[in-house]
Amino acid sequence: MHWIEIERKNKKLSSSSCSSSSLGVRICDCKKRAPLGTSWTDDNLGRRFHGCENFNKIGGCNFFKWADPPMCPRAMVIIPNLRRDKHRLTVENEQLRQRISAMEEENAKLSRKISSLLDENMNMGRIIANMGSENANLRRRVSIIESDNDNLGRKIASMEFEDENIGSKISKLEDCNTSLTRINKIMKFVLVVSWLVLLLIWCA
Ligand SMILES: [Zn+2]
Repeated sequence: MHWIEIERKNKKLSSSSCSSSSLGVRICDCKKRAPLGTSWTDDNLGRRFHGCENFNKIGGCNFFKWADPPMCPRAMVIIPNLRRDKHRLTVENEQLRQRISAMEEENAKLSRKISSLLDENMNMGRIIANMGSENANLRRRVSIIESDNDNLGRKIASMEFEDENIGSKISKLEDCNTSLTRINKIMKFVLVVSWLVLLLIWCA
């Protein structure tokens, strides 16, 4: 026979439902008070007993006496089943608790991720807004440069037209110059001839 746990905490469990139990003080063969324990074996599940506090140890005795009456056969079947159910539920409970804890941890991670993504989104929004205003500025500058270009094109065209006029004027002036040079040569020849004629008349 073996027993698992010395019951000290369960002193509160009243014996009202076990009216026939004997929970009085028991003295073992060592002349010491034999504490109350609870059996956890399937055959005597929850049945209390008095045993030597040094049972199965050096210096102890083999004092053992049931404090509760024997269990009825029905209870001997039902109680171990209930105990196994309780154990299974406890294990399941623990597993569920672990899953909840893991899910809470994951939730916290996801919350942090969402918060950082929101921050990132906000930054991207600001960057997009900045780029939009920069784009508008660049568009304005492009439009100014285009109108400048148009003005320059017009100016170049008018200068080219002016250039052509000047060219034709120069050409006319060159023609004029050539004519004047020819006239000058003729006048010089006429003058020399006149002088020669006058010299001949004077000599005659
Ligand atoms: Zn003893």
